[in-house]
Amino acid sequence: MKHNQSKLIRTQIEQTNEGEHSSPLYLTSSFCFDNAEDMRAAFADETADNIYSRFSNPNVKEFVDRLCVLENAEAGFATASGMSAVFGSFMALLKKGDHLLSCNSIFGSTHTVISKYLPKYGIEYSYVSATATAAEWEAAILPTTKMIYIETPTNPGLEVLDIAMISAIAKKHGIILNVDNCFATPIGQTPIDLGADIVVHSATKWIDGQGRVLGGAVVGRKDLIHEIYLFCRATGPSLSPFNAWLLSKSLETLEVRMERHCSNALVIAEKLQGHAKINFVKYPFLNSHPQVAIAKKQMKNGGGIVCFELKGGLEAGKQFLNSLKMLSLTANLGDTRSIASHPASTTHAKLSEAERQAVGINPGLIRISVGLEHHEDILADILQALEA
Ligand SMILES: *Cc1c(COP(=O)(O)O)cnc(C)c1O
Repeated sequence: MKHNQSKLIRTQIEQTNEGEHSSPLYLTSSFCFDNAEDMRAAFADETADNIYSRFSNPNVKEFVDRLCVLENAEAGFATASGMSAVFGSFMALLKKGDHLLSCNSIFGSTHTVISKYLPKYGIEYSYVSATATAAEWEAAILPTTKMIYIETPTNPGLEVLDIAMISAIAKKHGIILNVDNCFATPIGQTPIDLGADIVVHSATKWIDGQGRVLGGAVVGRKDLIHEIYLFCRATGPSLSPFNAWLLSKSLETLEVRMERHCSNALVIAEKLQGHAKINFVKYPFLNSHPQVAIAKKQMKNGGGIVCFELKGGLEAGKQFLNSLKMLSLTANLGDTRSIASHPASTTHAKLSEAERQAVGINPGLIRISVGLEHHEDILADILQALEA
């Protein structure tokens, strides 16, 4: 098959004697052996037989194999959430005395793991800004830097980082490049093709796409994934077979869903530009985005998230949310239903004003996760809430 989309659809675990067309759900904690010798061989890693669902499970394998097809990855491991994928990738590959270099615009819980927990284990970190130049990235590298961790586009600021530029620097210094590809999805960009060593995902977002389950994954270089597998197999953040079964099915429709999410998002971003109540609209594929050239170089679409800044600041943000009639107010993103959020009063309320400014979160910033409703209805709700 020539196309990854066809390969993904046709990547399936083996049929049972029932001849089922859709993969069955293997809701089992463990797997049986015919005899003591087979069991010994499986435990000795001499065979690939399933032993226990904390290590491996057919539904989890199908989900991972399909994600590897989309990301052009050699191997992968699926986890119970995006955060356990992020945490597992750090704990398996970093040790006391290592330095992690990242960017200050990263997901809130990732920032907590890096700044609060990694130092407890003697792992140091530092940040550069999302708009750092190659020289600034290079200047931030220490002799102990073992990993560079980035997220692009960033949540919620939608800054775009140049993956190829950063990967060239990482390669030059023999540093692992780890990319959170949650916002773009492998339909929007494939960081491994641009030089990333591993890619982490929150499958909870666009991959599930219907707001049902938590899940995560790390995919990439085989040797690094093996270390992550050994760490996770022993420590236990494994993905539930039920969630894997749903997420594997979700991957079949990821491309068609993302096409609509992204085309809806682009129309809404374009139509909101220049609105009297808005200071600016941010979307990676708008010509007014400061990094539009990087976005168009490395992404196939601009993604499903649109941000804009209301003129009235914090109060205008709360007023806007209260005036919405159709859009949901909820903490998730990447759902069929459009979602509005106000980072300054919710996800980023604990940061100081200066910290929020440093990562591009102004008091009036609104984040829209554009759903699959008709774009005219999404826009109509946003426009009436702006007028209210
Ligand atoms: C949500 C999110 C995560 C964490 O994923 P969970 O599945 O909620 O644990 C990590 N990175 C980004 C960019 C996210 O949006």
